Amino acid sequence: MNKFVLLIAMLVFSSGLLAQSQTNSYQYKIDLLNEKNNKICVSFVPPKNNLQKGKFVMPKLIPGYYDALNFGQYISEFQAFNKRGKNIAAKRLDTNTWVISDLKNIAKIAYVVSGGWNQLTQNPPGGKSTSSMYKKDSVFVINYNSLVGYFEEIKNRGYDVTITKNKKFYPSSALDYICKNDTTDILSVKNYRQLVDAPVLFCVPDTTWIKVGDTKVLVSFYSKEHRAYSKTLATKIETILSNQQTYLGGKLPVNKYAFLIYQEKIPKGMTGDGLEHNNSTLCLYGSKTLDRLPEALMGVASHEFFHILTPLNVHSEEVQNFNFLNPRLSRHLWLYEGMTEYATIHMPIKQHMINIQEFAKNIEGKIKAMEKFNNSLSMTEMSTNAINMQDQYMNFYQKGALLCLCLDIRLRELSNGKFGAQDLMQKLVKKYGPERAFKDEDLFNVITALTFPEIRKFFRDYVEAGRPVPLKESLLKAGLDYDESAKTVVEINNPSIGQLALRKAWIDQ
Ligand SMILES: [Zn+2]
Repeated sequence: MNKFVLLIAMLVFSSGLLAQSQTNSYQYKIDLLNEKNNKICVSFVPPKNNLQKGKFVMPKLIPGYYDALNFGQYISEFQAFNKRGKNIAAKRLDTNTWVISDLKNIAKIAYVVSGGWNQLTQNPPGGKSTSSMYKKDSVFVINYNSLVGYFEEIKNRGYDVTITKNKKFYPSSALDYICKNDTTDILSVKNYRQLVDAPVLFCVPDTTWIKVGDTKVLVSFYSKEHRAYSKTLATKIETILSNQQTYLGGKLPVNKYAFLIYQEKIPKGMTGDGLEHNNSTLCLYGSKTLDRLPEALMGVASHEFFHILTPLNVHSEEVQNFNFLNPRLSRHLWLYEGMTEYATIHMPIKQHMINIQEFAKNIEGKIKAMEKFNNSLSMTEMSTNAINMQDQYMNFYQKGALLCLCLDIRLRELSNGKFGAQDLMQKLVKKYGPERAFKDEDLFNVITALTFPEIRKFFRDYVEAGRPVPLKESLLKAGLDYDESAKTVVEINNPSIGQLALRKAWIDQ
């Protein structure tokens, strides 16, 4: 054997070995290029370990969607191999879990993953934004929770994911992919939660970047019928995002954010499905034309983008260490969704994008929407029991937002106008941030310590106990009258100086 051939042989041999040796991370390979019959091949090398056996888990639930989705249902042909390529016993326990023996000697685990849907109009409706969809040569919508799992015994490890794909495809995501070559992209994340939190759209790019403060915002669009449309959408949402930036004090607590928008032509009507993430939003939109898409997206964008505050930068341990098999839910959905939705209605008036009458109409809308729910329930209990109380879940966006409105007014009242909900959120972001979780049971006391002793009673009465939202008394402090029988909110005649001062501090009107 001459030297050159020997060298090649050694390289092939050693790279073969390297590819199969365990490191500290999960090393995943996902093959989109050879998708066939709505199935793709996925394989991985587990992290270095000393385990006799291990339990492999695919998520039953994921954050933001409080229903058992059982992502194990998409997995088939599950096999484990040792270093010599010999099959090692892997037993499926149920839809979402497998037990693998001799885990320390596993060189590779391979399985096949089916796509979750092909068309938006397909039954059952809903939940499509949580699973993956493959259209070879056109588009892949990837949610890693349907492709990638973890060992219960080996949590909190990094993931190195190598994706093989069509050479024309670009990965649009909140995370940064490294392009290794034409057909290979690499993604490295610090843990499973981060991976699952960032869906990705693989397709021929129709992307526009905008800069909001120091934050890079990606708008990525896919439609079979329409090309070069991302710029139109980006222009529309840019105004909202820059107003949100000013509202948040000028500096945003993230470096990158992504809007991933998939549009499909449907014969009539409109359908939408989306899932919010910490640094991105995935929107699946079905319509005959694109006429109403910019408006629809603006509505979605204004709420979703505010999630960069909470839960991204302010969340409890239940969120930080989310258990994908049997989650214990945080009691603070009133904050994650309620405060986010409150910021969505408060920002336009504070930024002078709408007038006080329009703002009052928005409050009336929330009041009317709230009526459909059971308003005597405790918001903290609704939160921990969200899985069993799905019919009440949407009330976090109504009553939750109105509670935060009342909290804002109460804070302004106690601080002589100097401190409101926006300031509170800034303080919490500073105190916690993306890596530091608060203790679920401590939050009310923490906020009380950061603000005023009286605030503890507010939380006790209206968030922990299910007392009705104190809308009438709160709005009156700002010179607005809420007529409880007519469900209307109007400015009162001859407001006092105190009322006007509070209104000015609260909504700058
Ligand atoms: Zn939300």
